[in-house]
Amino acid sequence: MFSTSLGYEDQVISHFIFSNKLPIEVFTLDTGRLFNETYSVLNSTLERYKTPIKVLYPQTEAIEKLVSEKGPISFYESLENRKECCYIRKVEPLKRALKGNSIWITGIRAEQSDNRQDMPSVEWDEANQIVKFHPILNWSLDEVKAYIFKHNIPYNPLHDKGFVSIGCAPCTRAVKEGEDFRAGRNVDTGHNFEEAISYRDNLAKQLDEKLIVRYVTDTIKAKKLQDGKGKFPSRNGLQTYTLLDVIEEFEFDACIGGARRDEEKARAKERIFSVRDEFGQWDPKMQRPELWNIYNGKVNKGENVRVFPISNWTELDVWNYIKREKIELPSIYFTHERECILTENGQLVNTNEFVTIEEKDVIVKKKVRYRTVGDMTCTAAVESEAYTVDDIIAELKEAKISERGATRMDDRVSEAAMEDRKKGGYF
Ligand code: SF4
Repeated sequence: MFSTSLGYEDQVISHFIFSNKLPIEVFTLDTGRLFNETYSVLNSTLERYKTPIKVLYPQTEAIEKLVSEKGPISFYESLENRKECCYIRKVEPLKRALKGNSIWITGIRAEQSDNRQDMPSVEWDEANQIVKFHPILNWSLDEVKAYIFKHNIPYNPLHDKGFVSIGCAPCTRAVKEGEDFRAGRNVDTGHNFEEAISYRDNLAKQLDEKLIVRYVTDTIKAKKLQDGKGKFPSRNGLQTYTLLDVIEEFEFDACIGGARRDEEKARAKERIFSVRDEFGQWDPKMQRPELWNIYNGKVNKGENVRVFPISNWTELDVWNYIKREKIELPSIYFTHERECILTENGQLVNTNEFVTIEEKDVIVKKKVRYRTVGDMTCTAAVESEAYTVDDIIAELKEAKISERGATRMDDRVSEAAMEDRKKGGYF
């Protein structure tokens, strides 16, 4: 059977199946939140090929309960709500559709995401107990479009407006000109927390700002770098290569960061205007003087600066400012329940697909929050009861250790861990 979301790729496969009258059942999921344009393309596909497409809907009872109890847009409120909505509207109907079948055909293409690059075109899907076949895995987007136009296949007009993958209307946006086509998807295949990436993309959308996204995974491939290894395979050091490439690509002469002196010893050595040489590197002994609030913004040819405007703030200052300005934040900063590995030195590292979980690991479910977000393989959570900004401010008044000291495993590697990374160009 073939699952179609009626996007470009799926229309190619539907055309092939229907034109050749192949005995393959075609189905689609109607989440109830699709774009009108998607319904139109379903209609024109049915008219063109005169072959039925099975439409599966979420279970009525589950949807009624969800919307009655949490409202129609609960997925905006938290990651848990989003997962719940996706489960009811997508996962459960999909499982129902696949049940009892042996082969599932999809329109997945390798270039759609980093983790599809090495994917085989035929694979076993353990979760759904089915063989998956991706017949156009190695097609480029240009090849897909050429096929669509050559055969005059009906396609979703949203593709012409910059939409690359078209799912539910509230959770899909167009990709802007010059933006990586994957930026429009609410997925990041790096080691980032999903909450942080969703927040980033939503903020860019709300502000209607152009967001430039570069992927550490791309740098690893392009430069043939060694990805992180071990139980907690951090990519923290590898980010530096991507950062330096971006600075060079756009010839940025100043990059603003939110680091503060009190976070960590190496950060304390930075000036507000902190110079990097033509190789992007930092020499703490060669810092230019910065007296009182007289900042040295002079940049020589080839150099650039990192600027840390809130370097002299404390974590408490930041949260008081957040409170005063009513700034929205990723939900991960507030207390929630999370499954974590309790490490030997007492840190709580969330279980995720990148860390290796061993039999001897102590897995706990705790009420936690994050004081800093970064690479999820080396950022630990802290136990907390802080559900609001006021709770966090009260909690911080009692805190004895900085957020980096409390939560970053990579900074604990050695006294000089951060300084070494910063010398190499790390933010
Ligand atoms: S993509 Fe958005 S609207 Fe669609 S099922 Fe998931 S959370 Fe709900």
